[in-house]
Amino acid sequence: MLRFKSLGSGSSGNATLIEAGGLAPFRLLVDCGLGIRVLARRLAEAGLGLDDLDAIFITHEHGDHIGCAAQVVRQHHVPIWMSEGTWRGCGEPALNSWLRVTADGDRIDLGCMELCPFTVPHDALEPLQLSVDDGQTQLGILTDLGHVPEHVLAHLKGCSALLLECNHDAQLLSESAYPGFLKQRVGGDMGHLSNRQAAEVAAHLKPHLRQVVAAHLSRQNNRPELAQAALSEVLGEHIDLCVAHPASGTPWMRA
Ligand SMILES: [Zn+2]
Ligand SMILES: [Zn+2]
Repeated sequence: MLRFKSLGSGSSGNATLIEAGGLAPFRLLVDCGLGIRVLARRLAEAGLGLDDLDAIFITHEHGDHIGCAAQVVRQHHVPIWMSEGTWRGCGEPALNSWLRVTADGDRIDLGCMELCPFTVPHDALEPLQLSVDDGQTQLGILTDLGHVPEHVLAHLKGCSALLLECNHDAQLLSESAYPGFLKQRVGGDMGHLSNRQAAEVAAHLKPHLRQVVAAHLSRQNNRPELAQAALSEVLGEHIDLCVAHPASGTPWMRA
């Protein structure tokens, strides 16, 4: 059984816990964009500690994704996967033998789950997003991308669960107090997905989907009800839909 829980989502910090296996579950943390005390507290709320993490995957070097990753690795001896560009982008931290370099198209066998990272268009050095498969179900993690190339949809086409970026409402972004360059960056091809773009992804992947989590919402340029409405319009009533909270994330959910 594959289950997952967002520990927080958005520009204030992203981290998603994914668990597979039965009696001795394996726990992967995708992104670690929180301070170490906050991460420890959110894990404790899920009944876990930092020593319960078996692996970390970092999608890219932006602060809301990298957070305390190096500190967790050094103090708790957790293997960490990221692209070479991400490692360079976050200042080439000393991760000793715990660093595992990965790239677009790799398959990472973690025993009870397999990770398939793929490249996404985002303004980072070598960003990756990923699908996670336990042999029975597939979970897609898709945040921090400015548009959705065909290969992204192909990677995610078998997903029954999807954590999907709904960063902004295009109109709220255009009317916001953000300076022009930032509006262009966020809304551009190497920025973040709007609610409408996310809905297009959801519509495409709908045949296999059972669970969708709207994630990485902008506090200034989006509202949970707008993201929810955009997705529910295409997903209908039979696919579970929720919005990840910036601080409390989501409850545990089955993929
Ligand atoms: Zn981000
Ligand atoms: Zn980013």
